[in-house]
Amino acid sequence: SADDLAARLAARIRDIPDYPKPGVVFKDIAPLLADAEGFAALVDHLAARAKALGATKVVGLEARGFILAAPAAYAAGAGFVPVRKEGKLPGELHRQPYDLEYGSAVIEVQQDAFTPGERVLVVDDVLATGGTVEASLDLVRRAGAELAGVVVLMELGFLGGRERLAAHLGDAPLEAI
Ligand code: AMP
Repeated sequence: SADDLAARLAARIRDIPDYPKPGVVFKDIAPLLADAEGFAALVDHLAARAKALGATKVVGLEARGFILAAPAAYAAGAGFVPVRKEGKLPGELHRQPYDLEYGSAVIEVQQDAFTPGERVLVVDDVLATGGTVEASLDLVRRAGAELAGVVVLMELGFLGGRERLAAHLGDAPLEAI
């Protein structure tokens, strides 16, 4: 069942207190990725969601989103598109600035990454404040894609990411495993 999957995955995610700075509990997915059964269950779930939502591209957010989105895209028979931090992609790009806790950042996608109206699933490991996903949704829409959904492995509910994203999702679901 869905609860079983969530529990199996959660059992392999490690809490690292005070990383990368004091007061933050970092969700370390390395033990899950290193576990053949857990990793397969996670990728199979993401691929099933991509198929069910009719996504023809799976978008991964740098960097841990890449690790999940690429195999999920392959398993779903979809393409993979990276959304990257500034300065990493060649060619014509769409750029999206967004605010961080201290300062700001820019993410980018290639202008020809999607065919117009193509349905995309956006994947990342952890939804925290929602700033990264929010910027990526604006970016994929500007690149001409239609949002099929967002799936994250884990949601830190107390940071309000879901509320922040509500206005950006339209009819698309935001799912945390
Ligand atoms: P946010 O934009 O605040 O939702 O942050 C999301 C991004 O930061 C994701 O790409 C996560 O990989 C990473 N992140 C934020 N908080 C954590 C955390 N507590 N543990 C692991 N990764 C995190």
